[in-house]
Amino acid sequence: MSAEFDVAVIGLGAMGSAAVSFAAARGAKAIGIEAHFPAHALSSSHGDSRLIRLGYFEDPSYVPLLKRAYHNWRSLEARLRAEILTVTGVLQIGASDSKIVSGTRASCDMHGLPHEILDRDAMKRRFPAFALEEGEIGLLDPQGGYVRPEAAIMGYLKLAAEDGAVLHFGERVVSIDPDETGVTVVSTTGRYRARKVIVATGAWIAELVPQLKAHAQPIRQVVAWYQPKDGFVAEPQRMPCFLRDEGDEGSYFGFPAIGVDGVKIGRHAHFREPIDPTLPNPPVNDTDTDLLDGFARKRLPDAASFRVRATTCRYTMLPSEDFLIDTVPGQPNVVMSSACSGHGFKFTSVVGEILADLALEGGSRLPTALFSFERHFGRQSA
Ligand SMILES: Cc1cc2nc3c(=O)[nH]c(=O)nc-3n(C[C@H](O)[C@H](O)[C@H](O)COP(=O)(O)OP(=O)(O)OC[C@H]3O[C@@H](n4cnc5c(N)ncnc54)[C@H](O)[C@@H]3O)c2cc1C
Repeated sequence: MSAEFDVAVIGLGAMGSAAVSFAAARGAKAIGIEAHFPAHALSSSHGDSRLIRLGYFEDPSYVPLLKRAYHNWRSLEARLRAEILTVTGVLQIGASDSKIVSGTRASCDMHGLPHEILDRDAMKRRFPAFALEEGEIGLLDPQGGYVRPEAAIMGYLKLAAEDGAVLHFGERVVSIDPDETGVTVVSTTGRYRARKVIVATGAWIAELVPQLKAHAQPIRQVVAWYQPKDGFVAEPQRMPCFLRDEGDEGSYFGFPAIGVDGVKIGRHAHFREPIDPTLPNPPVNDTDTDLLDGFARKRLPDAASFRVRATTCRYTMLPSEDFLIDTVPGQPNVVMSSACSGHGFKFTSVVGEILADLALEGGSRLPTALFSFERHFGRQSA
């Protein structure tokens, strides 16, 4: 059967919406298929805001990709004439030898990135939202801020459609059958033939890429929004986005009041509670809110005074907590993106480019070795 499409993108969440947009912008005949509706709240890419920062404590080798991600976010904004990425600074708080503070410092030093170190008194004066322990310091990444996930996804889908991509919503892909000349994609309502397929199905990745069953673990995540105490200003001009290293208690992230619901807080990976992606997330419970309310009371007493809402989301974790973005071993026509281990959104704008490179050019000039099957699982297996 001859190919109807150059590329079929399955899953139009963060990575898939960007991938189909990059592919269509290059003139490829592209189709995108999404099980739900655009920017829905059932997977990993909802909730108003995602942190972006340049000095990357996780691994300095992400920094060149982050620079490209910033560039691509600005290009998206220029085409849309809308703001997607807002710079507020990201304050990273903890003991000076904590993973977040020392890792960010190492990353900034290695790449010559601007940053400021603030002691407890300086932080108190400049950012009164944060209650600090003796001996804690803050590292301010002045280029950090947040990206709007729903607006980014809607924006990429809009551009993809403008550039001629075919987009189907409410249609679940049930199988992909790769062969030597392409891939047959079967959905709940159709059957398509494409030269290449990009699987970007987030928490559901193992359904279509079974090699990942033993490795990609979806977990439940919870975030909550809080109103400040009367009169306290928790808007970005007085309060940056933040990450806070709590040692054995893990790390917390948060955002100033950027919408009516106020300050948003979450603990990275929450309780690391595995979930079955085919079932709805278990709803928010008292244990979830006790954890987040406790953090708010202790660390943001004026900025996050009472909770107004909470919601669930999902991370898809790999054991290394890095990303996996590659052609599937033994299946040269199948490209995949997952799992972004709870820190992938900021990279959406560059991951979309990489996925389009892999599908349309057979490789990428961007530094992707960190994300390969080989690095994660060795040469032979996934
Ligand atoms: C609460 C929370 C906070 C986070 N904070 C940050 C942060 O501050 N900074 C950061 O960089 N990252 C953050 N992340 C991580 C980031 O949001 C994720 O890495 C990213 O959104 C994952 O995007 P994705 O495209 O892989 O998955 P998704 O956006 O979930 O997209 C997958 C899509 O595939 C569709 N799909 C699944 N199966 C099928 C099928 N068979 N057929 C068709 N469609 C299908 C789904 O419906 C979904 O739309 C956070 C995540 C959460 C949950």
